[in-house]
Amino acid sequence: MGLIEIASGNSVWRGMDYYNSKKVEEVEKTSDTTIDGTVRGENLYRVHVDIAHPRKSSCTCPFADGRRVICKHMIALYFTAYPKAAEDFLKQVEEWEKEEEEEENRHYEELRDYVNSLSKSELQSLYLDALIELEERRNRYW
Ligand SMILES: [Zn+2]
Repeated sequence: MGLIEIASGNSVWRGMDYYNSKKVEEVEKTSDTTIDGTVRGENLYRVHVDIAHPRKSSCTCPFADGRRVICKHMIALYFTAYPKAAEDFLKQVEEWEKEEEEEENRHYEELRDYVNSLSKSELQSLYLDALIELEERRNRYW
């Protein structure tokens, strides 16, 4: 799995912020799959990113130091070295959101078709049930 897949959503978005606000002060591709650099957070942190083995990445910030986690500084360094990765990530998110919206629209259409297929007496009885259930639910919270 890649760096982004392993990182928490929070680390990725905050890393994206750091990348956009140019908090990466030094960046050097030390091999085809490793990046070293410094990132300005509350302090200046030394960051090492290993793309092939993300768990081997390291950062001197309190969140990541000595733990095998992905922090926002690693993400910021990665995006700075590979802006295309940041672009791809945003595109991916956009696609997910679009799919989600399409899924939701499909679901609403199904609901509408279902409701439209009901007879008046079915609707009356279902609507009454729904109102009663709503009231019972409300009473439960009081
Ligand atoms: Zn860090």
